[in-house]
Amino acid sequence: MSKQVLVTGAGGLIGSHLVRKLKEDGCWVRGVDLKYPEFWETMADDFVIGDLRDQGLCKQIVDRRFDEVYQLAADMGGAGFVFTGEHDADIMHNSALINLNILEACWRRNVRRIFYSSSACMYPEYNQMDPDNPNCAEDSAYPAQPDSEYGWEKLFSERMYLAFHRNYNMDVRVARYHNIFGPYGSWKDGREKAPAAMCRKVAMAKDGDEIEIWGDGEQTRSFLYIDECLEGTLLLTRSDWTGPVNIGSDEMVSINQLADMVMEIAGRKLTKKHVEGPLGVRGRNSDNTLIEQKLGWRPSQPLLKGLEKTYEWIEKQVRAQ
Ligand code: NAD
Repeated sequence: MSKQVLVTGAGGLIGSHLVRKLKEDGCWVRGVDLKYPEFWETMADDFVIGDLRDQGLCKQIVDRRFDEVYQLAADMGGAGFVFTGEHDADIMHNSALINLNILEACWRRNVRRIFYSSSACMYPEYNQMDPDNPNCAEDSAYPAQPDSEYGWEKLFSERMYLAFHRNYNMDVRVARYHNIFGPYGSWKDGREKAPAAMCRKVAMAKDGDEIEIWGDGEQTRSFLYIDECLEGTLLLTRSDWTGPVNIGSDEMVSINQLADMVMEIAGRKLTKKHVEGPLGVRGRNSDNTLIEQKLGWRPSQPLLKGLEKTYEWIEKQVRAQ
């Protein structure tokens, strides 16, 4: 019999791609989300539109002993959503409720294997002040001091998953994602991340236009292409190791360099205009020492490859408008 898998947050960027991958692998998949994937058809066998803050719905959708559950639903977005402070209450309340409900529903059905998507945003701000030398090793998490409420909720929830692992013997797996990007994700609704926003700005600019960059653009990040994220996620979930572990790229670039790469892909030369905007930490990079050691895995593609595919998709969306 094929594996029975539940993906919550299946209408989002990572969830919709994960459903595709699980279907390619021959699994039976139920997806759940507030919405269908916006930019392509879901490949799930069964897709439930519903609100995971509702405990009753969570009990209904976990109606069997799934072989694997991937909990990806969260009230989230890029810097423009997470770092303005305007959405803090919703971010904390909504995502915590989802995690409380899903964990309990899975425990009641005796589901054993559950993957939780935490985030690099849970790492302490004080280790990410130097753009050239951020520390995001897994064991640098404490004393905790995330720079956003989004990060605090992730930290709380990953601890709750780990507590269910210890007390109820669930095969919990926790990954800390670092900036996952790719086609079929938010690119203009205010929840988009830097790679999608940069692709949109470059694709929409007319010759001679300036493109806006938040801050001085010297803040650093690393970005992981969606296919590599799925590879790491499935490897971790199907391993016998709990984590938490970083799933990210260690090819760190500044936001100015990211803009240059997108312009190079597009074959365009535009001027950068630095403006005020929500920024987040000064530097962040995935430390992949632990995942290499435990799972023998590291991303294999350079950032440029993933950016090319993402730019191609976003340019098409811009042209179709
Ligand atoms: P996304 O916003 O594209 O997907 C999240 C999905 O959750 C959305 O489709 C949304 O509708 C759904 N959702 C939100 N509230 C819900 C509710 N109450 N009931 C049902 N569904 C609800 O985000 P993503 O990039 O696919 O991220 C997936 C997970 O990975 C999230 O938990 C996110 O915090 C985590 N993560 C992502 C990144 C990244 O760079 N993409 C980085 C770190 C962590």
